[in-house]
Amino acid sequence: MNNSLPPELSLRLLGIRIDNLPRERALARLAAFAASGKPHHIVTVNPEFLIQAQETSEFAGVLNGADLALADGAGLALGARVLGRRLADRVPGVDLIDQLAAHAAAAHQSMFLLGAAPGVADAAAAVLILRHSGLIIAGAWAGSPSAAEENEIVGRIVAARPHYLFVAFGSPQQDLWIHRNLHRLQVPVCMGVGGAFDFLSGRVPRAPRWMRSAGLEWAYRLGREPWRWRRMLRLPRFLFLVVRQRIEGPAA
Ligand code: UDP
Repeated sequence: MNNSLPPELSLRLLGIRIDNLPRERALARLAAFAASGKPHHIVTVNPEFLIQAQETSEFAGVLNGADLALADGAGLALGARVLGRRLADRVPGVDLIDQLAAHAAAAHQSMFLLGAAPGVADAAAAVLILRHSGLIIAGAWAGSPSAAEENEIVGRIVAARPHYLFVAFGSPQQDLWIHRNLHRLQVPVCMGVGGAFDFLSGRVPRAPRWMRSAGLEWAYRLGREPWRWRRMLRLPRFLFLVVRQRIEGPAA
């Protein structure tokens, strides 16, 4: 485990470590990573990740080996409560990118956006530049998680030398991709961001603020993209497993 936070700031959900930091502390830690020049892998964990981690031990290892594991998704807050803990904050990837962009613009640091459908990363980059004057976008590229493209993509990023790399290849591919390439990339902050470019670019609308505050973003997303229903069955499964963890204690 690379993480050096005191144990009281971490919790374990279904065998996966979550760093339970308030947003401001998480941002400060990310800014310190960005300034360090050394590569770091940040994961934004949601209940789907935890179910995927039960199915693939490789993914569980990647999550537990991350330098920072932030909590994303209302389900995680509920899971923590079942275990008698309280999440300090929920930090959705899309909000995090925006806040990091504000910091990067002020610090003259650059960002590379990788993934999503062709043109979406460019559109998300354009939105970030509009919102944060002075922000340097080192690159935006759809690419793909396929092994055939890996060397070419890594070459592009290495040449661009960004401080931040956001990867939107969906889970678990995006974090497996970062883990495989972290040391070749030498990017100080590498983070998988799921559908964040779709939201930032406006290609997919976000839920109204009241639904987000009520932890109902998933319901809004399901209403707009009903094909997600099968994937969302992971949510009740997650809650079932957390209740079992509460009753039986964590697995050895
Ligand atoms: N994506 C991609 N290549 C892939 C699979 C997914 O670029 O092979 C992108 C997809 O276009 C989307 C993002 O990954 O922008 C996240 O996908 P999804 O919404 O399924 O992930 P979630 O946010 O639910 O984890």
